Amino acid sequence: VKERGKNDFMIFNQLMEHQSLERRLLENALRQGINEQQFYLEYQPKINMSTNELIGMEALVRWKHPDLGIIPPGKFIPLAEETGLIVPLGEWILRESCRQSSAWQDQGYPPLHLSVNVSVSQLEDIYFVDKVKTILHETGLDPKWLEFEITESVLASVKSTVSILKEIRNLGIHISVDDFGTGYSSLSYIKDLPIDTLKVDQSFVKDIHTNKESKEIAKAIINLAKSIGLNVIAEGIELKEHVDELSKDGYILGQGYFFSRPLKVGAFEDFMTTNHAA
Ligand code: C2E
Ligand code: CA
Ligand code: CA
Ligand code: CA
Repeated sequence: VKERGKNDFMIFNQLMEHQSLERRLLENALRQGINEQQFYLEYQPKINMSTNELIGMEALVRWKHPDLGIIPPGKFIPLAEETGLIVPLGEWILRESCRQSSAWQDQGYPPLHLSVNVSVSQLEDIYFVDKVKTILHETGLDPKWLEFEITESVLASVKSTVSILKEIRNLGIHISVDDFGTGYSSLSYIKDLPIDTLKVDQSFVKDIHTNKESKEIAKAIINLAKSIGLNVIAEGIELKEHVDELSKDGYILGQGYFFSRPLKVGAFEDFMTTNHAA
């Protein structure tokens, strides 16, 4: 038993070393990736499901590593958050997406709402609001088109969120609560924080057409949002059945593969041209 335990411990140790080595490699690659601009953005359409009209887009970051290929955000955003690298990366994401939105408007595309994901370390960065102001100034994007998506758990955990959100709101930027319904927190922050939109998490949408509980939860969130004057959007819409279930009770926005996957710039321009013919 003693031998066995010792062996397990050695294997465990090797595993940990291996993991921390992999982590360090990835962290260095991330740092280098930021310096060498290996990142690009995709944009996923947001649709008014009552009219089928394109109303906005969410910017989603992608990492194209020269050797490893395309690495999905689920693989590097958590590490970027732990290491603080999300601060410079997030600043690039915001600048690039605002620049692109502004350029599209200048090119005559109908103006769309731009949603950008913001992480906890960015909100905690004391220069965050100044950076946002600078980016708006540099890119010329009217802040009324800009929205920050902040997860429910972040909103519920950060102490100084109220004052930061107020500053952001004062700039004219909208706030959306991402992954709403998954944060296991009390709902009281909804009335304390200056928020505009609830984004129903995809886990409630997935089986909305087959599972009564999911359907009732989604409906309850939609009713809650509407009754206190917030906008509501459902994410993860993959099927016609999802659209039908959700748009039964009137106006609601949707986002998901049913309408479109996240698109590269050129493909998003095609989407704007065909789906928003002015
Ligand atoms: P999220 O903010 O909840 O983004 C939605 C995710 O769902 C995206 O995955 C999107 O591609 C995916 N999705 C969209 N429609 C559907 C659908 O119909 N079905 C399913 N199954 N999935 C759908 P993605 O791009 O891999 O991003 C994953 C997460 O990584 C994001 O979740 C967000 O938390 C983070 N992330 C992505 N881009 C950024 C960014 O620019 N900044 C920060 N801070 N986080 C980001
Ligand atoms: Ca999001
Ligand atoms: Ca989400
Ligand atoms: Ca999510």
